[in-house]
Amino acid sequence: MRDFAYARTDRAAEAVQLVARRADAAFIAGGTDLLNLMKDGAEDHDLVVDINRLPLKDIEVSRDKLHIGALARMADVAMHPVVRRQLPVLSQALLAGASPQVRNVASIGGNLLQRTRCGYFRNEEFACNKRRPGSGCSALEGRNRWHAILGVSDHCIAVHPSDLAVALRALDATVHTFGPDGARTIAMADFHRVPGDTPHIDNSLRHGELVTAVEIPLPDSRNTRQRYLKVRDRATFEFAVVSVAAVLRTRGRSVEDARLAFGGVGTRPWRSAEAESVLRGKPLTERNIAAAGRILVKEAQPRPDNAFKAELVQRALQDTLGRFTGGSR
Ligand code: SF4
Repeated sequence: MRDFAYARTDRAAEAVQLVARRADAAFIAGGTDLLNLMKDGAEDHDLVVDINRLPLKDIEVSRDKLHIGALARMADVAMHPVVRRQLPVLSQALLAGASPQVRNVASIGGNLLQRTRCGYFRNEEFACNKRRPGSGCSALEGRNRWHAILGVSDHCIAVHPSDLAVALRALDATVHTFGPDGARTIAMADFHRVPGDTPHIDNSLRHGELVTAVEIPLPDSRNTRQRYLKVRDRATFEFAVVSVAAVLRTRGRSVEDARLAFGGVGTRPWRSAEAESVLRGKPLTERNIAAAGRILVKEAQPRPDNAFKAELVQRALQDTLGRFTGGSR
């Protein structure tokens, strides 16, 4: 890791200015991913701007939405009473991520911006288009058990690792930012990018643009069922092999609205409008859930080591939604 300069400010405009005017500058909050990236040589910054003193730690509830400041810590959001009561899928996803120590330090904004855990990306000895554009992708013919089967390209098949982002996609959250061109709002659906031929670009932020908050519409909890299921190799401090975030609104036995997001299978937190529409207006039966699962993976492009994910994610969907009918295994 090369030497870098450190700056700190309590003003968002100054933080943005400091980062925007230097190509190799970056914001730092919890630092739980950024410092590892710098040590591993996956990122190289000559200046880090500490934003922990910005007033962005608030968690505020209004009549129809929850506002989470980008510097709120994962643990605080997970244990917030409104989150636990009205957004359990969010609380479950947060508590499924990282370790208690990391959750006490890691920020919500940083969690969304964490980078892939593809081992080749974090090892300078291997070719990686995400780390060095045009150098090749070692995972295509290498060890790819943990990689994506949806949204892949010939240039990158890395999975986005955030559990939080999967829950936020199912909840139709928006990301609020402040940058050199002012403030803007980005739908979660547009925040993370598929790799295409530019896998080094993970998201739609511009250089120097700061995530300031996440906002989530509060669902009507009377008819809404939520759950986050994470399948992983060990019970704690492990990334998802596959995961499912489900937000289902029901009327009687019928599904009125289904919002399903998936982790571990896509190059970004994944949703399939087609799979959701299969469930809408129908009873939540094993057969209908299976039909939705088949549609989810119909365009999957697995590699030799990760072909099992196509079946595993369908089973995870069956398990997640089966709990809502009392029919889960
Ligand atoms: Fe790099 Fe993506 Fe290939 Fe991993 S999958 S080696 S991150 S280009």
